[in-house]
Amino acid sequence: MLSDIEIAQAATLSPITDIAGRLGLSVSDLHLHGQHMAKLTQSTVNQLHTQPVRAKLILMTAINPTPAGEGKTTTTVGLTDALNLAGYKALACLREPSLGPVFGMKGGATGGGYAQVVPMENINLHFTGDFHAISAANNLLAALVDNHIYHGNALQFDQVSWRRCMDMNDRALRRITINQPYAYDTGFDITVASEVMAIFCLATDLADLTHRLSRMQVGQSTKGQPIFASDLHAEGAMTALLKDAFQPNLVQTLEGSPALLHGGPFANIAHGCNSLVATQTALRLADYVVTEAGFGADLGAEKFIDIKCRQSGLRPDMTVIVATVRALKYHGGVEVADLNTENLQALSTGMANLKKHVDNMRQHFGLPVLVALNHFTHDTEAEVALLQSAVESWGSSLHVCRHWAHGGKGALDLAHAVARMAQQTASPTLLYQDDLSLPDKLHAIARSLYGAKDVTFSAQAEQQLGTLAETSRGLPVCVAKTQYSLSCDAKLRNVPEGHTLHVRELRLSRGAGFVVAICGDIMTMPGLPKQPASHRISVDANGRICGLS
Ligand code: ADP
Ligand code: MG
Repeated sequence: MLSDIEIAQAATLSPITDIAGRLGLSVSDLHLHGQHMAKLTQSTVNQLHTQPVRAKLILMTAINPTPAGEGKTTTTVGLTDALNLAGYKALACLREPSLGPVFGMKGGATGGGYAQVVPMENINLHFTGDFHAISAANNLLAALVDNHIYHGNALQFDQVSWRRCMDMNDRALRRITINQPYAYDTGFDITVASEVMAIFCLATDLADLTHRLSRMQVGQSTKGQPIFASDLHAEGAMTALLKDAFQPNLVQTLEGSPALLHGGPFANIAHGCNSLVATQTALRLADYVVTEAGFGADLGAEKFIDIKCRQSGLRPDMTVIVATVRALKYHGGVEVADLNTENLQALSTGMANLKKHVDNMRQHFGLPVLVALNHFTHDTEAEVALLQSAVESWGSSLHVCRHWAHGGKGALDLAHAVARMAQQTASPTLLYQDDLSLPDKLHAIARSLYGAKDVTFSAQAEQQLGTLAETSRGLPVCVAKTQYSLSCDAKLRNVPEGHTLHVRELRLSRGAGFVVAICGDIMTMPGLPKQPASHRISVDANGRICGLS
């Protein structure tokens, strides 16, 4: 089997105008970025948003991630290709990759095997420049804050809470000291954890984007009053930096299915789904929209529903939970080196993680669920049969998918099942009501979804609960915690019991419209591993990239 990049580079791509044509769009609807990438113009997006929704929305989520790999993006692409192959009109909605994982541990985010979006190298690197624009807008505001203080501090800043950002895993920048004109401690977050990224992904249109940017809190005055971006007249210039980025990007899969890739908040430290604008646009361009929410369903799917859907009124019609035999064996106690050996006992134990997510989606969100088994070469027939009968005994169904090896035709069974299930009328619900207190919202998430016995707060978070009581009223909470466990301790695999969700810090994202609860030891600026993926990347004399994964 060729590597992901070799498969992607061997592909013959259609002109992006042809892909747009399949969606009923013409060249006048596009801003072309070369032959294979385009943005939809703002006027096309605005015009489409006046039309009624025509598509079913399918949420792709997963079990808790493991080093063994699960494959949500790969399965999102595989299902979209399979739906198109089966004669339905399907469109994938994905996030744009961040350079942090591209050069760090995980690699790119364009899918894998024969289920990828292309051009793979462009998408994984600078793409159409959206993340650079978001970083620039964020850092313009930081410069405006410090400049204001330099020129006399008329707003009487006492504390600056606004942080800088950069789309890179650079742990050395987690904490910095600004020395002009007086010293204060601040730091960098990765761009995908920034409030500007969250706003970019939740704003309904350009006016809402400006409005949300204006209401971001950047600090506090000596009188204890909040100071907003609008006090610095920042929102107009920030919108100017963001306006082109705000148009959704159109690319294609290896099989020529259309895909909108737009925005990219991480799901462990941010809200984890692609832009609302892209999703709303997609719902008017196809009959089935398949969208991925990041990491496990405890993070990505919860925030998709409790943040993105709550704010927009959007509701998914169903959800697909991706699992792999390997990852379930890992949850069942097997170490990475032994995952290629059949182990029915470990699989049987580790299946509990899948069951918890299936139950969560059905019981707490009222969503119909299918399980997609993303098939790996070493999965044995006995393992697949065991998992199949277990999933059926829970009242759901499992569909063996071989899109990684075979493209869309490998996921036809899943596509037909999705097309059938999406026709049923679902009554999705939010997990908690707007009017609960912040601690009660956290309890609702921790107890019902994570299976925690309690929520505790650090002294700092305790104090922040007091100061945020008024300003956070009615807002949902965005939990930042490890993706590897249902708890906030990455080491606790499968379905841990008796654990506590420890909230370290609370940050108000007033523009995004949520409160971030930072739990356990999660960092909003990740670091690189000892052997970063960047070591393997090179470029030949013709400009061809090698080693990107
Ligand atoms: P996620 O979106 O859940 O983080 P991805 O779809 O990005 O996961 O997949 C992560 C990695 O796993 C990719 O490099 C992909 O090539 C690989 N992968 C996915 N599915 C398979 C499979 N069935 N067999 C082998 N490798 C796979
Ligand atoms: Mg992914």
